[in-house]
Amino acid sequence: MKEELSKAELLQKEIMSKKDAYLENLITRLEEGRDYCNDYMAFLNFAKTEREFVKKTVSLLESNGFSRYDKSEKIGKGVYYNNRGKSLIAVTKGSRPLSDGFRMIAAHVDSPRLDLKPNPMYESDSLGYFKTHYYGGIKKYQWAAIPLAMHGTVITHDGKSIDIVIGEDDQDEVFCITDLLPHLSGKAQDSRTTREVIKGEELNILIGSVPIDDEKIKEPIKLNLMSILNKKYGMVEKDFVSAEIEFVPAFKSRYIGFDKSLIGAYAQDDRVCAYAALKAFLKSETPEYWTMLVLADKEETGSDGNTGLASSMIFEFVTSISEKENADRRIVFMNSDCISSDVAAGYDPTFSSVSDPQNSCYLGRGVSVERYTGAAGKVYTSEASAEYVWRIIKMLDDAGIIWQSGELGKVDEGGGGTVAKFIARLGADVIDMGVPVLSMHSPFEVTSCLDVYELYKAFKAFYKQS
Ligand code: MN
Ligand code: MN
Repeated sequence: MKEELSKAELLQKEIMSKKDAYLENLITRLEEGRDYCNDYMAFLNFAKTEREFVKKTVSLLESNGFSRYDKSEKIGKGVYYNNRGKSLIAVTKGSRPLSDGFRMIAAHVDSPRLDLKPNPMYESDSLGYFKTHYYGGIKKYQWAAIPLAMHGTVITHDGKSIDIVIGEDDQDEVFCITDLLPHLSGKAQDSRTTREVIKGEELNILIGSVPIDDEKIKEPIKLNLMSILNKKYGMVEKDFVSAEIEFVPAFKSRYIGFDKSLIGAYAQDDRVCAYAALKAFLKSETPEYWTMLVLADKEETGSDGNTGLASSMIFEFVTSISEKENADRRIVFMNSDCISSDVAAGYDPTFSSVSDPQNSCYLGRGVSVERYTGAAGKVYTSEASAEYVWRIIKMLDDAGIIWQSGELGKVDEGGGGTVAKFIARLGADVIDMGVPVLSMHSPFEVTSCLDVYELYKAFKAFYKQS
């Protein structure tokens, strides 16, 4: 016999938030999302830099009927603007006029990593090295004693552009940063703070050890290493000054756990969002509102630079397309709904002291909705209005999306930002949405398959909403 609910239980059901919505159909949802997660993980393995992500996106857009934006040409299904191969805007034409606004999702495709200094190569005591300057907020010690792969674009002295990837194929050589053995780290290292366990100037990448056999040469290992690069790519030492070379973890994405319910991989911040946005965008054929996909660069260093969202790239693109469509750009922005899609700090039971448990996002409990990010006293952020948050939550509920809402850690514990404030500047409504991540900014970030798939479904619903 079915047990009757007590008066208090009925009241609870009516007016209290349902805390366990994420448990509904959990196994079915996990199975449904498996193919999507497999594809996502494969994508992560060959799009480890912003350039690789944008390149892959351009080829997907073109094979789906999108063309390069040209103001003098009629817009067919949709167009894209490739900003220096490092950031991108794509739009699909809607059945409504452009003045009714866009449905925009912006995610970033740059991730924390190690960049080479302009004069990187040296040798010391029978070993060859690269000097680096880290990019984005990393805990430097996490990047020592792991295999690293080299990705980059080199313009050789004779003007040829070469894309280099070394360390991703199982047969390839890899590189690494060495750490001190525990037997000797007592005085030299053990009293350092975590930020300094490995210092910035100690992030030197080991790249070889064999000298050229000629005692007249002062730096015989360096010469040998340079001659290998010269033979393979036509490079000379001066080419490093202009090259963009990034070192990233050489390992591939993997499922985590006996139940394979979690994903471990480098650069899920923010490819988990960028990939979901891209896939949902490609699915948004013949949408009611114009849809827009923005893949941003430089988010991890504050969005500055001409490929970051603090630049005028969105403004100029929308201005141009508005003129073309006889729409008032200001009205277009004011009528636009945007999602700043970025990852949230997942609640980590091992380090629970930094989080407010009832205002945290948990792995496996759905997409994260954060109305503001920033730090102490809500600075460095934009906050979505009550009306907009309500609309977004209604959209998620109507589409049956599992979602949760929280903040980035306890008040005054720390903080962080996203691209939301740069979109808000344009006059559009914007809110942050993503998935919670553990070990964020480490070489091996952790997400939940359930959230990863739920995010894709949320973006499909967002692009479709009327
Ligand atoms: Mn991010
Ligand atoms: Mn980040």
